[in-house]
Amino acid sequence: MTNIRLGLVGLGKIARDQHLPAIASTAGIDLVAVASRNATAEGVNNYHDLAAMLAGEPGLDAIVLCQPPQARFDAARMALAAGKHVFLEKPPGATVSEAQALAALATQQGVTLFAGWHSRYASAVATAKSWAATHTLKHVTIDWKEDVRHWHPGQDWIWEPGGFGVFDPGINALSILTEVIGAPVRLIDAELETPANRQAPIAARLAMATAGGVPIAAEFDWRQTGPQTWDIVLEAESATLRLSHGGNMLVIDNVPQDTGLEAEYPGLYRRFVDLIGSRESDVDLAPLQIVADAFLRGRSRSTEAFDD
Ligand code: NAP
Repeated sequence: MTNIRLGLVGLGKIARDQHLPAIASTAGIDLVAVASRNATAEGVNNYHDLAAMLAGEPGLDAIVLCQPPQARFDAARMALAAGKHVFLEKPPGATVSEAQALAALATQQGVTLFAGWHSRYASAVATAKSWAATHTLKHVTIDWKEDVRHWHPGQDWIWEPGGFGVFDPGINALSILTEVIGAPVRLIDAELETPANRQAPIAARLAMATAGGVPIAAEFDWRQTGPQTWDIVLEAESATLRLSHGGNMLVIDNVPQDTGLEAEYPGLYRRFVDLIGSRESDVDLAPLQIVADAFLRGRSRSTEAFDD
C-alpha cells in the first residue's frame, strides 16, 4: 500500500511543536505540502492557502487543519468537497452545528473525518478508563488552571468569539472526562468570568453529572502563575484515582503508576492512518457539546480587564 500523501494547513505553534514531528515519525503517511499565509516549511511544497494547495497538489489524499477554530469549517468543507480525508485539530469546530455538518459531508463524500482530541492520547488515560469501568464512582473533580500569558502569548483569536477562551485548554479536560467515564455527561450549571475588554472567558466553573447522577465539578482558570494544574480526580468508594499533568501521570490510592512515555500526537496520527485504512470516521462531539452548553446555560460575569 502506498503512503498517505498529506497536506497541512496553518503552520503555527501546534503544527510546529507537535504535528510536524509526529507526522515524520508515523509509518504510512508523508507530508507533501503545507499551506500557510505567513510561513514556509522545509522539504515540502509550500502554498499560500488551501485552495492553492488543492489546485497544485491533485495527488493529496488527506489534509490536516491546524488553524484556530474560527477558520476550521470553511477549510474542512473545501477539503472534504475535494474528496480528501480530513484531520481536525481540537476543537472540531467553533460550533456544534458546523462540526455536525462536516461529519455529514464526510459521510456523503465517503472519506474519513477525524476530530482529534489529543489529550485522550495522553499516556495514563487508557488505564484510568479501565479503572473507572471497574469502580463505582462517587465524585469527580477537575482542576485545570494555567497561565495564559505563558501558553498563549499574543493569540488574539483565543479571546474572540469562537476562540473558546479558557475552554481552549478546558475542553482537553472534558475530552479526557468523557473518554474515561463515557458520555453522556450532563451540564447542570456554569459560571463564566469574562474580562471587560475580551469576548471569551478567562475562568469557568462547571457543575455536571454522569448519566447515573454522579456529580462532576470542574474549575478552569487562566490566571494561575507558578505551578500549573491539569488534574482530574475520580473518587470511588474507598479508592481514589488522580490523573495529573494533563492525563500523563497517574496515582491510584496514593501509589504512583507507571504510564510510559508521553506520545499524544503520534497516537493521533496512528489513529488517523487506521481510520483512513478502514474508511471510517471518528467525530465525537461530546466535549464540544459540554462547552456549548456552558455558554448556553451559564451565568456570565464581567471581570477585570486582561492584557497579554
Ligand atoms: P496559532 O499558532 O495562533 O495559529 C495557528 C496558525 O493558524 C497560524 O500560524 C496561522 O497559520 C493560522 N491562523 C491564525 N489565525 C488564523 C485565521 N484567523 N484564519 C486562518 N488561519 C489562521 O495557534 P495554535 O496554538 O497552533 O493553535 C491552533 C489550534 O490547535 C487551535 O484550535 C488550538 O486549540 C489547537 N491546539 C493548540 C495547542 C497549543 O499548545 N498551542 C495544543 C493543542 C491544540 P498561517 O500563518 O500558516 O496561515
